[in-house]
Amino acid sequence: MKKKLSIVIPAFNEERNICQIVLEISKALNETGYLFEFIFINDGSFDNTLNEIKLQSKKYDNIFYIDLSRNFGKDYALKAGINLAKGDAIITIDADLQHPASLLPKMLQYWETGYEIVYTYRDKPNPYTNILSRISSALFYKIISIVSDNTLENGLSDFRLVDKKVADELVKINEYEFFFRGMIKWIGYSQIGIPYTPSARLTGTPAYSSFKLIKLAIGSIMAFSVKPLYLATGIGLVFSLLALFYIPYILISYFCGYDALSGWASLIATVAFFGGLQLLVLGIIGSYLGSIFLQTKNRPNYIIRSTNLIQIENDPVEF
Ligand code: UDP
Ligand code: MG
Repeated sequence: MKKKLSIVIPAFNEERNICQIVLEISKALNETGYLFEFIFINDGSFDNTLNEIKLQSKKYDNIFYIDLSRNFGKDYALKAGINLAKGDAIITIDADLQHPASLLPKMLQYWETGYEIVYTYRDKPNPYTNILSRISSALFYKIISIVSDNTLENGLSDFRLVDKKVADELVKINEYEFFFRGMIKWIGYSQIGIPYTPSARLTGTPAYSSFKLIKLAIGSIMAFSVKPLYLATGIGLVFSLLALFYIPYILISYFCGYDALSGWASLIATVAFFGGLQLLVLGIIGSYLGSIFLQTKNRPNYIIRSTNLIQIENDPVEF
């Protein structure tokens, strides 16, 4: 029996890319001899994305959609797709054609040789972004690699293949802050990464603003590690030790007749510095507390308004 692939594609305002991505992927997969289905997740688009997907699903019977009730973000859209995908392997790919579909046969080859996860990373900094976002992107991967004790390649992408058994494990993970790239490293299994050269976005604009990216980066780091909390202990320890040496120094200076009490300005500076430091550390603790608060509410990661995938569960069809 032929193996089945589920292609999971998150789409947020991608009305003009839907048709093209279906063509590109079909072209790349037709020669491979696998059965495949498309699962588009409409992540609260404001444009005609959903209608475009529905149009395609009328045309081809291997195209399905999951319409989310609002914009939940790419990671949650991907999770929605993976949760409902039934293929022997699940491939996630962006809708904007920045991920080369021509890499699919190679990914499948690796899968056939026994790799359970085949991920991809940019072979060089993204040439379609400005220097500032390139630097912050490199910094983000560095920090998250340090705090999570995992090496995340610079430019790691969400274009990847996971085996069904990996997907079954992913389905069980129900975290409030879900950061796919980190989660995939954490989950283990035999993995291999292949480099790719990103193409320009076909049409439309990137959905993530700088502010959204910073929020995402902080959230991802916190979702993966409690190390920022240890920062407080470390900084506290260093400054307590410094103070410990400073006090005898003042006393000795005083008894030796030196003027140790001058320097009010430096005193104020020190007080301000420590005030700031304490607030920063409180902020870090507060952020974790917030995450715990949100997690304990146990709300779903996403809400599905409608989908045409359910039919498969009731009435299995060959696609
Ligand atoms: N996307 C999504 N929800 C969002 C933002 C983006 O589903 O809130 C999708 C988007 O349609 C695209 C993919 O995620 O298929 C990558 O988005 P984008 O091109 O904006 O990100 P970048 O290429 O800059 O990583
Ligand atoms: Mg893109």
